[in-house]
Amino acid sequence: MIHLRTPHEIDAMARSGAIIAGLFQELEPRVVPGASTLDLDRFAESYIRDHSGAEPAFKGLYGFPGSVCTSINEEVVHGIPSDARILREGDIVSVDVGVKLEGWCADSAWTFPVGEISEGAAHLLSVTEAALEAAVEAAVRGHHVGDIGAAVMRTVEGTGYGIIRDLVGHGIGREVHEEPQVPNFGRPGHGPLLRDGMVLAIEPMLSAGSPEIRTLEDGWTVVTADRSLSAHFEHTVAVTAEGSRVLTASRSPVPQSADGS
Ligand code: MG
Ligand code: MG
Repeated sequence: MIHLRTPHEIDAMARSGAIIAGLFQELEPRVVPGASTLDLDRFAESYIRDHSGAEPAFKGLYGFPGSVCTSINEEVVHGIPSDARILREGDIVSVDVGVKLEGWCADSAWTFPVGEISEGAAHLLSVTEAALEAAVEAAVRGHHVGDIGAAVMRTVEGTGYGIIRDLVGHGIGREVHEEPQVPNFGRPGHGPLLRDGMVLAIEPMLSAGSPEIRTLEDGWTVVTADRSLSAHFEHTVAVTAEGSRVLTASRSPVPQSADGS
C-alpha cells in the first residue's frame, strides 16, 4: 500500500534528509584522487552517527555490508566500499546514502567528479542532475507516477544517453523501500495518482551508452552491460499542498550534532 504521511511525519523525514544533505557538503572535498571508497564510507558512517539517534539505513539492509554505496564510473549502483578501490583523477563516483532517525528514513545519491573529469563525463552528470530536477518538479498533487518518469525521458531525449529501466525509485517512510515503484520512464497521466503526503525517492540513473545492466559476481555491484559511464542522482521528495518538497536538499536546516557542533 502507498502510505500518506502527515506534515509532522514529513518534517521528521526532513530531519533525516538534512543529515544526508549535510553529509554531502562535508563529503565533497573528501572525494579526491587517492581516497578509497572505504574512506568515504567511514566518514559517512561517523558523520551520520554523530547525529544523536541517526543510523546508516543501508548498513545490513538485505545484507549490504557498507554504510553507503559507492559506485565508480561504469558502476551504476550498489558498489561496496573497499580500501582496495582507490579514486583516480577523472573518475566519477556516485555515493548513495540512507539515514534513519527516530524511525524515519531518507535516501539520496549524488555523483561526484574526482578531480578534473572529461567534458563527456561532465555532460552526463549535468543531464542526470537536470533529469532529477525535472522529475522533482513533476512530483506534484494531481500528477501521476508516470509524469515523473516522463519528465526524466523528456530531459534525456536527444542526448543519446540510455535510461536505466531495470532499477527504479520508490516510496520511502518507515522503511527505505516502500510502494510505489517510481520508474524513470512513463507516460503522463499513468500510474498511481500523486496525493499530498506521498513521499518518494526519485532517482534517475543514466548510462552514456547502453541502458542494459549486469550484476557483478560480488552479488551487489550493478554495472552497465557495455561498461559505459553511468551517473545517479537521487532526492527524497514529499508531495505537499505547497508543491514538491525536497527533503534531502541542503536548504533544509541540519540538525545539531550529538556534540552540539
Ligand atoms: Mg539511494
Ligand atoms: Mg533509493
